[in-house]
Amino acid sequence: RPSLTGDFATLMEFADRARRMRVRANADTPIEARSARSFGAEGIGLCRTEHMFFEGDRVRAMREMILSSDEAGRRTALEKLLPIQRSDFIELFEIMAGLPVTIRLLDPPLHEFLPKSDAEITETAAMLGVDEAVVKHRIAALEEFNPMLGHRGCRLAISYPEIVETQARAILEAAVEAGEKTGDAVVPEIMVPLISLRKELDFVKERVDRVAELVMAERGCSINYLVGTMIELPRAIVRADTIAEVAEFFSFGTNDLTQTVYGISRDDAGNFLSTYVRQGIIERDPFQTVDVEGVGELIGLAVEKARRTRPDISLGVCGEQGGDPASIAFFEQTGLDYVSCSPFRVPIARLAAAQSAIRAGRSLRGRGRRQEP
Ligand code: PEP
Ligand code: MG
Repeated sequence: RPSLTGDFATLMEFADRARRMRVRANADTPIEARSARSFGAEGIGLCRTEHMFFEGDRVRAMREMILSSDEAGRRTALEKLLPIQRSDFIELFEIMAGLPVTIRLLDPPLHEFLPKSDAEITETAAMLGVDEAVVKHRIAALEEFNPMLGHRGCRLAISYPEIVETQARAILEAAVEAGEKTGDAVVPEIMVPLISLRKELDFVKERVDRVAELVMAERGCSINYLVGTMIELPRAIVRADTIAEVAEFFSFGTNDLTQTVYGISRDDAGNFLSTYVRQGIIERDPFQTVDVEGVGELIGLAVEKARRTRPDISLGVCGEQGGDPASIAFFEQTGLDYVSCSPFRVPIARLAAAQSAIRAGRSLRGRGRRQEP
């Protein structure tokens, strides 16, 4: 398990006294969460729940869910995933010991989970009790030309609300159980991906709230939780004021935001962006470092609109740029509350946040710094 020691640890302490922005980590597994903590992360800013379903029985249940022909079939498959998710989340909450944990509802392009090999198709057909030809037909029906711009994020939640219900239940039950076990107050932050319309968020939040009421009644306790959203589409930026009426926090997803603002596929950008840099068309890869004049200006607009509606809204960033020093300087200027990056980038993010706070004259030194974990 990595840790910071000696002069490096001392340097980090100086940095923590100087910085204003909090630094969280993107973590989906206990190993990542532990290394995030040992690098000084002050919470999890993004747990991508789809990453929890790529193996073994988990991916089998996921295939069963996606390829079921009706809601009853999907619910049967989701029932298998509920205890798995609940124990995943309990572990994350325990490791993070009362620090904030943002869990994002399912956001994969569905094809990532579909059976591919003949053996997987045979196995899925047996699970569903149908012929292999039926499975192949259902797979073909789910095919998309642009999966990253297709049926993912909150669009899945709207097509299949039972996914939201199961995930919300797993998160909320885990919060209760982890809180009882550890004595820490666990306040899960439930994050909805790929929102562009306020009504999408209304739809999902309504379901989460309904599940929360049920879980509270069943467990005989109250649960504090937050529902917020990724801001990663231009329409969400423009409508940030109305979206903030519903969302209790925003997290900017600069990977998708850069993709959709530029109209460049995030998966294909590598093919030509380096040429753009070489030819002097752009200075830096906008997927790595925030493009201040374009994407950055839009983030600034959303910050202003969100705070007008909800002055105390928590605002962070969890795209790749959350761990990039030049981008962190921009996020400091824009007034974000935190950045979230991969665990190994946490130390550099702590330093970069301190440097940018000092440069901006916004050091918290002498103003009673918050408690560090
Ligand atoms: C993003 O889009 O910036 C983000 C953090 O989400 P993902 O990379 O999982 O789409
Ligand atoms: Mg995204």
